[in-house]
Amino acid sequence: MNRREVLRHCLLALGVSAAAPVSAFDLAGALGAAKSLAEAATLDDAELNAYYGQMSAQMDAQSRIAGAATAYGKRLALLTKGLGRYDGLALDFKVYHTKEINAFAMGNGSVRIYSGLMDIMTDDEVGYVIGHEIGHIKSGHSKKRMQLALAAGGLRDAVSASGGQAAVLADSQLGELFEKVVRAQHSQGNENEADDYAMAFVKGNHFSPQAAVSALEKLDKLSGGGGGGGGGWLSTHPAPAARAARMRESLA
Ligand SMILES: [Zn+2]
Repeated sequence: MNRREVLRHCLLALGVSAAAPVSAFDLAGALGAAKSLAEAATLDDAELNAYYGQMSAQMDAQSRIAGAATAYGKRLALLTKGLGRYDGLALDFKVYHTKEINAFAMGNGSVRIYSGLMDIMTDDEVGYVIGHEIGHIKSGHSKKRMQLALAAGGLRDAVSASGGQAAVLADSQLGELFEKVVRAQHSQGNENEADDYAMAFVKGNHFSPQAAVSALEKLDKLSGGGGGGGGGWLSTHPAPAARAARMRESLA
């Protein structure tokens, strides 16, 4: 399966994963021996960021980016104005031009929003998604996954042989890493944490707080159709209905 087929597969699998959350990647299984954990702990932030950098460079190279001169690019630039440095993070925003309804963030501050998601959401709702993704970065969710993934399987040798410097990973290894770090489903606890961050984010950045609710309700409605229309974001960010209700409560 090449990368595009994998993405399509994730979309097709969405109806299933939304109804019965099964992690695409068994994190516990990937932990392996305790030794792997100990090795993971030795990776410092600079090394982790170097791996994120390689991963996002590969994804960017494989994707069709809606540039600054396009309508999508201009819209995202407006929505993220002044957010290049935010809450102690250095952030980098780009639009991937694809019908897929998705967005993801990496621990090095890369935030990628898919045009398919922008098509179905208002500016305020995209603001919520941006806040949610920043929340995952700020809370270190993907960093933990990255440490575990690098300590597991075929990547462990490459990493431990690199002696404190980030190894240059092959395309296939970066692909494996992407699946394990970005394409894996977040836990409900992580989702709630990122949602709470997003709620504070929209309130503090002139987006409508109500948009956190309406964005999640929109995704829930799409997933209920059973056609996989909820898009990739739901496969990694589960349970939109419960989260919408939770966000609604936090508005009161
Ligand atoms: Zn999430």
